[in-house]
Amino acid sequence: MRDGILRCALTGRPVGRSADRLRVPAGSRVVSVPDAMIGGMPDAAALAALLRAHPGTLVLTGAGISTDSGIPDYRGPDGTRRVTPMQHGDFVGSSQARQRYWARSFIGWQRFSHAEPNAAHHAVAVLQRRGVLGPVITQNVDGLHQAAGSREVTELHGSLAEVVCLTCDTRSDRDLLQARMAEANPGFEALASGEAPDGSRVSSQIRPDGDIVLDDDLVAGFHLPRCTVCGAHTLKPDVVFFGGSVPRERVDACYALTDAAPALLVLGSSLAVMSGLRFVRHAAKRGIPVMAVTRGPTRGDDLMTLRVDGPLAPTLAAVVSAGLAA
Ligand SMILES: [Zn+2]
Repeated sequence: MRDGILRCALTGRPVGRSADRLRVPAGSRVVSVPDAMIGGMPDAAALAALLRAHPGTLVLTGAGISTDSGIPDYRGPDGTRRVTPMQHGDFVGSSQARQRYWARSFIGWQRFSHAEPNAAHHAVAVLQRRGVLGPVITQNVDGLHQAAGSREVTELHGSLAEVVCLTCDTRSDRDLLQARMAEANPGFEALASGEAPDGSRVSSQIRPDGDIVLDDDLVAGFHLPRCTVCGAHTLKPDVVFFGGSVPRERVDACYALTDAAPALLVLGSSLAVMSGLRFVRHAAKRGIPVMAVTRGPTRGDDLMTLRVDGPLAPTLAAVVSAGLAA
């Protein structure tokens, strides 16, 4: 307060408004977060204080936590869609759609499978080991939480590392399929890596579901892989596409995690789809604190105890350096 401005003890950022901006649900154990830690601009220090009061906080993550690993979000900070994702109905109903998906995914997988966890994934794993954070529910299909060493990770939308046959339900490994697709499509990778005279043949844009943009004429020459058990052309990555539904038992397991949680922390999700938002609503209904670190607004803002509108990795790094331990 040397310059007359109240500053956050941890980040040094000015804090202007009073603590009553922080809405604490009835029955919450959060009652004594110091004013200087809260301010009107919720920040890492306020987040740290809330987490300290709720060891074992359940984590819900979205695409925003993986963007620093080179996997872009479907939505920008304003919440609008930047690319059109694969739709479940299209994939299931059309062999052309599946051919398009697998041709693109064949190329995209090289990069997707080499993505590495970033500082935010590592911070979550560290805070888990300290007991500050509990289980993780992720809407991502990239496996990066596990790669960072997180445990008790529920992949709400499945994993790109696995493949399921829609006809006979056989599950298999994505890497094995990659090898089979390479065998069935010799030269395709080199073709797809080449550029048309106008430089437009292959886009460098990878998508959150491992898809990548390829020209239609290139896609048409791609041999769609068959199931090794039943022979059908109905292999699907074991992920929930837009318009598909999360298996009931997985949803129930996530509700159970929410029921057992002392608080919920949302990281890098705008909660644009109901599959994640429902757990935020459930947590709020239970009266436990709901926190979020995201860029831009979320659909659950009215249910939040605290929302930090800022970059994930630095915010979580500040929480880690606050030395929290359960
Ligand atoms: Zn099959």
